[in-house]
Amino acid sequence: METAAPSAVIVAIDGPSGTGKSSTSKAVAAKLGLRYLDTGAQYRAITWWMITNGIDTDDPHAIAVAAGKPGIVSGTDPAAPTITVDGLDASGPIRTQEVTSKVSAVSAVPEVRTLITELQRSIAASAEGGIVVEGRDIGTTVLPDADLKIFLTASPEARAARRSGELRGKEATDLAATKEALIKRDAADSGRKTSPLAKAGDAVEVDTTELTLDQVIECVVTLVEEKRAART
Ligand code: C5P
Repeated sequence: METAAPSAVIVAIDGPSGTGKSSTSKAVAAKLGLRYLDTGAQYRAITWWMITNGIDTDDPHAIAVAAGKPGIVSGTDPAAPTITVDGLDASGPIRTQEVTSKVSAVSAVPEVRTLITELQRSIAASAEGGIVVEGRDIGTTVLPDADLKIFLTASPEARAARRSGELRGKEATDLAATKEALIKRDAADSGRKTSPLAKAGDAVEVDTTELTLDQVIECVVTLVEEKRAART
């Protein structure tokens, strides 16, 4: 694995859905001049490819055999992150309810994780100046040597309310159903054998339930700045 420039700071932000991970990670990267990688988008992209290519997402063997076929490319500008699959813009289709309901099954397949983890490590290693990488297993598995690890949490009610707010206008939303789907996805992500959703032992936990997005961003920016100052 190549290593990024010595002054580059690598920030891992993990946590379940609805904790404000994406909004926080993008804003922190933009404020500090870092690149940004949404690893959930990569797992969604491979899931979308499986669906559109007729692969049974309940069949781990079929998924494992096909895992290396799609070419997934992530653009890491925090102001305009992109994701393409075989050259096609996948940013819209990866957010559908169908992909959301199937992504945990696809991402639990070890062959999928190995490929996507390699891709994530190479993106992080080549990010000049540093990068904020958000996901579920970044601090534990993908980048265990990250300079700073953050684990975001929030109550299930707060997470469901935020997620419903994001979906509003795009798809029919029902708070109770959203909460149930979130809990189910988190249970699958936390319970899988290969690199489950987990807080790294050396991660800083931030409970965002009572915080505004701006407060969470400020908290993480301060933590990154402290790390950078401690290294100089
Ligand atoms: O963050 P997002 O909700 O878009 O992630 C979608 C799914 O991708 C998660 O529910 C999880 O199954 C998978 N994922 C993962 N490891 C990561 C990031 C996401 O397994 N590092």
